[in-house]
Amino acid sequence: MEYYSLNHNAKEVSFLKAVRNGLAPDRGLYFPKEIPRLESNFFTKLHQYSNHEIALQVIRPYIGNDIPTKELEKIIEATLSFDFPLIEITNNIATLELFHGPTLAFKDVGARFMARCLSYANKTQKNEALTVLVATSGDTGGAVADGFFKVKGIKVVILYPKGKVSELQEKQLTTLGENVTALEVDGTFDDCQDMVKSAFIDVELFSKVALTSANSINVARWLPQMFYYFFAYKNRPNPNKKLVVSVPSGNFGNICAGLLAQKMGLPIDHFIASTNINDTVPNYLESGNYTPKKSMQTLSNAMDVGDPSNFIRIQKIFNNDFFKLKRMLSGYSYTDKETLKALKEIYSLNNYIADPHGAVGYLGLKEFIETQEVPDDYQGIFLETAHPIKFSDAVESTLKTKITLPNPIKDLLNRNKTSLPISNYEDLKEFLIKN
Ligand SMILES: *Cc1c(COP(=O)(O)O)cnc(C)c1O
Repeated sequence: MEYYSLNHNAKEVSFLKAVRNGLAPDRGLYFPKEIPRLESNFFTKLHQYSNHEIALQVIRPYIGNDIPTKELEKIIEATLSFDFPLIEITNNIATLELFHGPTLAFKDVGARFMARCLSYANKTQKNEALTVLVATSGDTGGAVADGFFKVKGIKVVILYPKGKVSELQEKQLTTLGENVTALEVDGTFDDCQDMVKSAFIDVELFSKVALTSANSINVARWLPQMFYYFFAYKNRPNPNKKLVVSVPSGNFGNICAGLLAQKMGLPIDHFIASTNINDTVPNYLESGNYTPKKSMQTLSNAMDVGDPSNFIRIQKIFNNDFFKLKRMLSGYSYTDKETLKALKEIYSLNNYIADPHGAVGYLGLKEFIETQEVPDDYQGIFLETAHPIKFSDAVESTLKTKITLPNPIKDLLNRNKTSLPISNYEDLKEFLIKN
C-alpha cells in the first residue's frame, strides 16, 4: 500500500516510511492510495473470529509488504493484550469500553501498535536512532510513554504543561525513565504544541536529529482504531436493528477510523460525532462552513480541540462531498453542565459509572435515536474512551460514590516523578541536540 500527502506536494511512500515521517515533507497528512474492501462473507462470520484474527484481516492490506504476516500477527497480539467489553445500559443503548489498556485510555491501542511497527522497522532496516516528540494535554503522553517504553532505537520526549495535567496523568509521564523523558513546560498545552510544531519546521534541528511525531496524525496510530468498530459490530446486541455508533471526538482520529472501516464494508448505519463546547465540526455539519476556533477548557479535556487535525481525512473519505458526509455523520455538542447531568442519568439507569468523555458520547447517541422517526429501529453504541478514575474528582463528587482504584494505578501513585523544566523553544532545541 502506498500513502500520498493530502497536500499533494510530496512523494508517495510505503507504510513504514509514512510511520517514520509522521507528517509528509509538504506538511500534509498521509492517506492510503486505495481503500480496500473486505468480502461480505467476512462480516457475516465475524462472530466466529477472535479479536486478533479480525485485526489482522482489517489492517493487513494497509501494511502491504512492509511487515510479513507472521510479524504482523505478533505485533497485533502484543497490541491487543486486553479486553474490549460491551456493556448494555438500556434496551437500545450500550457502551464499548476501550479503556482496559495499561494507561486506561483508548489511545493505548494506537500507541502500542505504532511503537511495535517502528521497532520492527529498526530491527530490519539500518535506521538511525529516532526521537519521538509529542505534546500532551493528558492522555496522549501516557499512552505514548507506555507504548514506547524500552523500545530499542527510539527515544521519547514528551512535553506537558506544568500544573495542567492530573496527578495520575503526570505520574504516567514522569515515572518511567529509561528511553522516556518528560519535559515540564512553564506554559499551556498550546505552548507545548507550538514548540513541537517549531521543531518540525526547524531545518537545522532536522539535519541533526531524526524526529517523528506520535500524535494521532501518524498513520500507525490512526489505522488500528478501526478495530474498535469491528469489535462493536461483532458484539452488538439486537443484530437485526440498524447499528449507530457515537464517538466522543476531539481531534477526530478515532471517528475517522470508524468511517474508514465503514468504507471497507463494515455495516454501520450511521455515525455520531459527539463533542463538548469545542463544536467546530457539529457547526460545520449544520452550516457547511468549517470555521476553526481557539480551544476552550472543559471537563472532557481530551476533546478540547478547536481545529481537529483529522477532519481533512474524513472529508477525503467522502471525496469532499458535503452532502454525502452529512447523510452518514451527525454532530452534537454539549456543555459541562449537561455532561454532569448525563453522568447521573447513566448511573441511575443501571449503576454504570461513565467518564465525562463517555457521557458526551451517550448524550449524542440519545439525541440522535430520540429524533429518528422510529427510534426502536436503532441499536446504539457509544465508545467509552477513558476509565472514570482518570476524572475521579468530577465523577465521584457528581455521583457521590467512590471509584475503586484499578491495579496498574495503585503502583503508579507510589512512584517518584522525574521531569526536566523548560520554558521556551530554545530550551527544547538544546535538549534535543545534546541528547
Ligand atoms: C483523545 C481522546 C478523545 C478524542 O479522540 P480523537 O481521536 O482525538 O477524536 C476522546 N476521549 C479520550 C478519553 C481521549 O483521550
